Amino acid sequence: MSLVAIVGRPNVGKSTIVNRIASGQPAIVDELSGVTRDRNYIKTDWSGKSFTIVDTGGLIFDDKENLIESIRQQAFLAVEEADAIIFVVDGKTGLLHDDKEIANILRQKTKPIFLVVNKLDDISKELDKFSFYSLGLGEPHAISAMHGLGIGDLLDELVKVLPPEKVEKVEGVINVAIIGRPNAGKSSICNRLLGEERVIVSNIPGTTRDTIDTVVERGGKSYLFIDTAGLRRRKKIKGVEYYGMVRVLRAIDRADIVLLVLDSSEGVTGQDQKIAEIANDRDCGVMVLLNKWDLIDAENLNNLYHSLEKKLRFISYAPVLKVSALKNKGISKIYPMIDKVANEYFRQVSTPQLNNLVQAIKTKGHTVSKGRKKLNLLYATQIKTGPPTFLFFVNEPSLINVYFKRYLTSEVRKFFSFKGVPVKLLFRKKS
Ligand code: GDP
Ligand code: GDP
Repeated sequence: MSLVAIVGRPNVGKSTIVNRIASGQPAIVDELSGVTRDRNYIKTDWSGKSFTIVDTGGLIFDDKENLIESIRQQAFLAVEEADAIIFVVDGKTGLLHDDKEIANILRQKTKPIFLVVNKLDDISKELDKFSFYSLGLGEPHAISAMHGLGIGDLLDELVKVLPPEKVEKVEGVINVAIIGRPNAGKSSICNRLLGEERVIVSNIPGTTRDTIDTVVERGGKSYLFIDTAGLRRRKKIKGVEYYGMVRVLRAIDRADIVLLVLDSSEGVTGQDQKIAEIANDRDCGVMVLLNKWDLIDAENLNNLYHSLEKKLRFISYAPVLKVSALKNKGISKIYPMIDKVANEYFRQVSTPQLNNLVQAIKTKGHTVSKGRKKLNLLYATQIKTGPPTFLFFVNEPSLINVYFKRYLTSEVRKFFSFKGVPVKLLFRKKS
């Protein structure tokens, strides 16, 4: 999947652009709380080419004290990691010093860059874009994200420069991404997992050029740890260790299973939540590793459980392991859990089993209705694994609402468990 990063000062309209491009796609709604979450990235396609746009501003830790520094860092990482960059400036305010600073970083790199002058709501203002030529980033593209002007032309140009799509997931292995905030202990856990095993460091053909993965063979199974080089490479920019969200997205895209590493002594932070959301939205299996368990005392134990319950409820299906990479505690449980989750992820249930499920649900009599219409479940079939996806045939799909879907999902889980993996339900009309 190609990744396109959006960079620029705050308020230039980056998230408006992402939303505009996303329009027509269902909003990401946390079905449990009914809240629509921020959308900092969106998977989309244009002229038959699919790609993901990432608003790096929204995804990276905002160091509010030093906003421009954090934007500079985003720009830096975006050019390192993305396939193309959309650099947004504000046509209303005109060129500002911070725009020049960002342009200076972008100009040093050879990635395709689209300089976009936003907020040109009125065609007669198109000429205003020319003052931005001085940034030295080529022809400015005039758009109005608010009114949807110029976006189509921009996307036409964008898809021309994106690399051809390639198969990202490697077959025949369990693809594992170790993800988490800086200092949570990802590298330490990775080292423990690779420690005693037979390790092949490999540059898997077809994957991103600078990604080095490690394949571990263990008990007749192969595990591919994604981007182990990226995990180990210490990226320090001006003393701050920085974490590239684009890189995380890439890793998650290639993963079957995400190991979300948390620092137990700090609880669940907003960034952990974002990472978990992405893993969930991208249909990966998820395991939560509560690392640094050695630092836990009674007080932070309470905080930890509270924040897990509150902030990661949408992945309550994920198994949670307490580990300490430092003390080598709990680590031996990780591989068996990966195996379990992988089994569930790729599990195909039989049609008779599904019939039993449908019968059991019907017996319970839970249903939805509107006016005289009442939902009738007819039968179901599993149309996909990785993650398990079920198609339910019903008399009237329009009756299905979020609550009923949630109920069905929980019934599917009661029946089949599917520990650690998202379960997808689809509906089709059958009379
Ligand atoms: P971000 O901080 O770069 O993500 O900027 P936002 O997308 O949050 O937009 C900042 C403000 O600019 C919001 O009030 C938007 O409504 C406004 N805005 C965004 N695009 C346009 C546009 O094309 N025209 C005008 N007039 N306002 C816009
Ligand atoms: P990463 O940035 O997520 O890859 O984190 P590292 O693996 O580099 O670890 C960050 C810091 O946390 C290092 O100083 C580690 O020694 C320390 N650390 C990692 N795991 C543990 C643990 O289980 N317990 C404690 N107390 N420290 C740990």
